[in-house]
Amino acid sequence: MKSFEYSAPRDEAGVLSVLSAEAGHTEILAGGTDLIGLMKKFIVTPDRVVNIKEVRSLRGIDADSEGVTIGAVTNLDDILESPHLNEFPSVQQAIRNMSSPQLQAQGTIGGDLCQRPRCWFYRNGYGRLAAASLIADGDNRFHAIFGNEGAAKFVSASRLAPALVALGAEVRIIGPGSQDELFMPLASLFQTPRTEWQRETVLEPNQLLTHIRIPRQGAANGTYEVRHGEGPDYPLVAASAALRVESGIVRQAAIVLGQVAPTPWFSADAVRAIVGRPVTEVTADAAGEAAIATATPLSGNGYKVQLAKVAVKRAILSAAGLETGGF
Ligand SMILES: Cc1cc2nc3c(=O)[nH]c(=O)nc-3n(C[C@H](O)[C@H](O)[C@H](O)COP(=O)(O)OP(=O)(O)OC[C@H]3O[C@@H](n4cnc5c(N)ncnc54)[C@H](O)[C@@H]3O)c2cc1C
Repeated sequence: MKSFEYSAPRDEAGVLSVLSAEAGHTEILAGGTDLIGLMKKFIVTPDRVVNIKEVRSLRGIDADSEGVTIGAVTNLDDILESPHLNEFPSVQQAIRNMSSPQLQAQGTIGGDLCQRPRCWFYRNGYGRLAAASLIADGDNRFHAIFGNEGAAKFVSASRLAPALVALGAEVRIIGPGSQDELFMPLASLFQTPRTEWQRETVLEPNQLLTHIRIPRQGAANGTYEVRHGEGPDYPLVAASAALRVESGIVRQAAIVLGQVAPTPWFSADAVRAIVGRPVTEVTADAAGEAAIATATPLSGNGYKVQLAKVAVKRAILSAAGLETGGF
């Protein structure tokens, strides 16, 4: 690992004061479960590491009548155990599916959302975008089936993003100045990078994600992940659904896939297929079919298209409290 300066500020302003505007110069450390591995392999080589876990305002869960606010360094287990999250089973399911006591105890929600792509070309030093032709011709079984026409062919790795985006979550971002603060939909945090220096989020190097807010919209919600098997591993494909159902008919829906594109993938086609209909096995299946209509699989990941269809169908059934038929 390259030598680095270490800083552990006690408040948000202190964090901003030690973050550099220069890309790659400083890295934010939360639980470290993703960052430390990348540093050990010299994939990420900061001159300074800024530990944000000492900042009290970034930790904890608050709820009011309009929503639930979660600090960015709140551990995944604390989120899972909080009664405030009981109306968001899609988030709880996503955390439970990690099946790793260590990662759940150490990993944070901010770190989960900002974790780097889980692409074995990137993690073995070939870059994220520079590896595009290697990926196109190589072993791309876990890569993107949507949004992969450019150089970015990795998948967004966040486990919680599909559920949180479907629920309409917002994020609070601060920096670069000590008075700079903005709120934006979580969906807008993610971007597909066009250069090696551009991240998978729109955060500037001297900005900090501080809080995630989930609005109470009364939507039934559920997540379904298609996985290799039990144990701590990423899903092959995931989907989350949030449905507003009135008199047995879906009036409003948000359906977001994970592990299929460089960003969480909102499926407008699946939404169109389910809105105005009751949730049944047949309508959920039709939404799954609609979701994959525009898929563009690579040479070795065509199997993920069928998995995406199943994930969408079962996420909808799960949100509606119906038997999913899976595990
Ligand atoms: C062996 C192993 C298995 C894993 N398996 C899974 C899995 O099955 N599913 C899964 O979802 N994840 C998995 N992970 C990935 C990761 O550990 C978790 O997603 C975890 O939640 C990341 O949180 P962290 O706090 O440890 O992040 P960190 O490693 O501290 O940070 C991750 C990235 O986010 C940035 N960051 C962190 N917080 C902020 C913030 N507030 N503002 C701006 N940037 C920030 C960091 O700079 C870094 O680039 C695995 C990791 C390992 C090592």
